[in-house]
Amino acid sequence: MNSFDEYTIARFWSKVDVGDISACWPWKGADSKRGYGRFKINGKAESPHRIAYEIVNGKIPPLDSQYHGFVVRHMCHTPGCCNPHHLQLGTQHDNVNDRKDRTGKASIVDAPDWLGIAVEPQPFCSKLDTAKVLKILRDPRTYREIAADYGISTTYVSALKNGQRWKHLHDAIHKESPTHD
Ligand SMILES: [Zn+2]
Repeated sequence: MNSFDEYTIARFWSKVDVGDISACWPWKGADSKRGYGRFKINGKAESPHRIAYEIVNGKIPPLDSQYHGFVVRHMCHTPGCCNPHHLQLGTQHDNVNDRKDRTGKASIVDAPDWLGIAVEPQPFCSKLDTAKVLKILRDPRTYREIAADYGISTTYVSALKNGQRWKHLHDAIHKESPTHD
């Protein structure tokens, strides 16, 4: 699933203080004393936690305006930690909102060979948050335009507009009185 060769993966984990599954795994390679640290790959310096995430979960989706850029978040709030269990894909917005809307149940997947442990990926559940859903509900454009703008399917836009998803917001919008600000 990942795009790294075995050598790179072995080189990477040799620089991580791999510990118990619940513990933080500090980066002990370059710049480990400063922030996230640095791992050189194909001549480029990368953040070790992003590489740890990609080794386990595959490539982080590219930055684009639609998603405003993905970040790999530390659920443990330890900047140098490379334990994939502590890493989750999110957006800058999520970083602010932290883990407000994490209802998805993670599933256990087979361990990659490099560790011999079961890995519980943190699912990236939702591209939407309350503010975005409210905007979509008030958005007069066609479903197709809205879907393209938010990176969701037209079916999902329809489900939002019909109150089949995020029902509480749908109901709230439709209860809004004209005098309400
Ligand atoms: Zn950690």
